[in-house]
Amino acid sequence: MRNITKVVAAVSLITLLTVNTGIVFADDDISVRMDGVISEGSDYVPFDDVKPIQLDSRTLIPARAMAEAAGMEVTWDQPTQTAILTLTPNADSDKPIERFAAEAISKVNGFGLEMTPKNITAALRINSSRAVIRYNFTDSEGDNVSIGKPYEMVSQAVLINGGTLMVPVRDSMEMFGLNVGWTQETLCAFVSMPETVAEPDGIAIISNHGEGEYAANQSGEAMPVVGEYIGRFKITHYCPCEICNGGWGARTAWAGEMNPGQTIAVNTNVIPPLANVYIDGYGYRIAEDTGSGLEEYQIDVAVPTHDMAMALGVVYRDVYYAE
Ligand SMILES: [Zn+2]
Repeated sequence: MRNITKVVAAVSLITLLTVNTGIVFADDDISVRMDGVISEGSDYVPFDDVKPIQLDSRTLIPARAMAEAAGMEVTWDQPTQTAILTLTPNADSDKPIERFAAEAISKVNGFGLEMTPKNITAALRINSSRAVIRYNFTDSEGDNVSIGKPYEMVSQAVLINGGTLMVPVRDSMEMFGLNVGWTQETLCAFVSMPETVAEPDGIAIISNHGEGEYAANQSGEAMPVVGEYIGRFKITHYCPCEICNGGWGARTAWAGEMNPGQTIAVNTNVIPPLANVYIDGYGYRIAEDTGSGLEEYQIDVAVPTHDMAMALGVVYRDVYYAE
């Protein structure tokens, strides 16, 4: 039986948040089950004070309960209002989810780089449907390399009760490649492992503007703020070596030393010197360099090594001015 008082209270609470117009109710009867995720059997997710709610037909549960039930860690980044779910792979684990993570990250196209898998993270910003899934590695020099992609969620993470972080079960679990089902009769969401672990598709190296390394801050660009669309660009890659950059070495045209993870070379007929841009799948970059051979709709992305430049090859991406 639904508790009507509670339903009304929850509706007015959520209305205050003005995050959405979807039907929202709190209901003790909604349950969430993990099927073969952290054990071989079925485990119901335990809830304390805050029960699952529904928002736009999606079940949201407290992030901590979600993470613990799925064998993940959850952290909160205050400046960017972003929740980060972290799944650590372990091929020898007795938890199916950790073995799944090991297999999934092993299937990520590493662009020919020598890298050690670290973890898989999902960054969900409050009141935003844009999330980012990242497969994180450590390269041979000990730097972080994140390969991932933005993920468009149907629902959104929200804060309720003055601070309880609620995440959508389906979106947050599907981001990791898990299956999510729903039984209307019993109001039960259930999470299960896929039969086969697919190679994550559509992913690219993600970097973080301003960090100075070819590395991704876990939350810094979780939700890209982008301005005017410039166009679809041919993206090539270069390094400071003689082959890529001739006599220039690590020197850029307008910003001193080349900074992989930040520097791009552009054709100034399209992008002005020192413009801040956002390249889909890469992140924020600064037009610090140019080159005589660049086509108008081409961007040369600086990377640390020639091997990386070769491995990354040529791709096509949408490019925006950063706001
Ligand atoms: Zn090179």
